[in-house]
Amino acid sequence: MNDTMSIITSRVMSGNSMTPIAATLVSKTEEVLGVVTMSLRLETSEPFEFQFGQFNMLSVFGVGEVAISIMGRHEDELLHTIRSVGRVTHALARLKPGEQLGIRGPFGQGWPIERAIGKDLIFITAGLGCAPVVAAIKHAIQHRENHHRIVILQGVKHHRDLLWRPQYEIWRDQHQCQVLLAASEEHKRKQHWKLGVVTGLLEEACFDADNCIVMMCGPEIMMKAALEQLKLNGVPDDACYLSMERNFQCGQGFCGHCQIGPYFVCKDGPVFHYPNIKPWFGQWGL
Ligand SMILES: Cc1cc2nc3c(=O)[nH]c(=O)nc-3n(C[C@H](O)[C@H](O)[C@H](O)COP(=O)(O)OP(=O)(O)OC[C@H]3O[C@@H](n4cnc5c(N)ncnc54)[C@H](O)[C@@H]3O)c2cc1C
Repeated sequence: MNDTMSIITSRVMSGNSMTPIAATLVSKTEEVLGVVTMSLRLETSEPFEFQFGQFNMLSVFGVGEVAISIMGRHEDELLHTIRSVGRVTHALARLKPGEQLGIRGPFGQGWPIERAIGKDLIFITAGLGCAPVVAAIKHAIQHRENHHRIVILQGVKHHRDLLWRPQYEIWRDQHQCQVLLAASEEHKRKQHWKLGVVTGLLEEACFDADNCIVMMCGPEIMMKAALEQLKLNGVPDDACYLSMERNFQCGQGFCGHCQIGPYFVCKDGPVFHYPNIKPWFGQWGL
């Protein structure tokens, strides 16, 4: 088991990956309006391992099942941050501590942290795109010696929408760690904030385009704009990784709903090396 895996190792479920196992909601924190972080205890003695960027399928009995990124873990509990947008996520957000839900996972491919060793590491996220990335950021900060500069760019609609605000302040205080925030509908100017979208922050970001790895997650229109800007800045496609989101049912490449060209977001992603999906990226309906 490599270093990354051992750091984040929790417990793993085995057996049939189509069969949910029970988890108990231990606690729930409202991060901002409509977004909760759930702390879940798996009701199994088997170990659970995951990579940063992987996801679980969470189910509410009698309602349905959705893909949710693994945000991290606290002691033996798994953390998931959920925006309540529809049928299943509303039901998840309404669960009370002590109630049970189902979990299948972990699924998919995570972030290639090892490829970023010895390089500048740039994170570009928007909205809830920070959730699949936050564990990778924490790992990079904990292993600060592994990277040269760390650049964290996050965009939100309004500065009130920023999750884990104190966390960004802690990251900003780290050696050679640049944290820039953008709000597209901000009312008043705040220190370290820029009015606009996250891609506008790339102008101020300091990194070596020839020796960096970029990890991004957010709306595809944002990632498309970021990739164009990075290209202008001299960052090769080979340095770019992105986490994609699609609606799907199985999480294992059976239902076909998340297909992008020859790939499935659920099992070949959600984190993709950009050159692999470049021919299909941004083409709707594929
Ligand atoms: C790999 C992956 C990781 C994810 N991680 C998280 C996470 O950490 N936190 C989180 O809150 N959400 C995450 N999501 C999104 C989450 O799965 C959807 O919000 C959820 O499926 C919505 O289900 P629902 O029944 O609540 O809403 P529904 O009632 O099904 O839909 C509500 C609205 O959202 C649209 N919608 C539903 N699912 C998706 C989707 N996947 N992509 C685009 N539009 C969709 C519907 O068309 C509808 O307009 C992730 C999705 C994927 C694929």
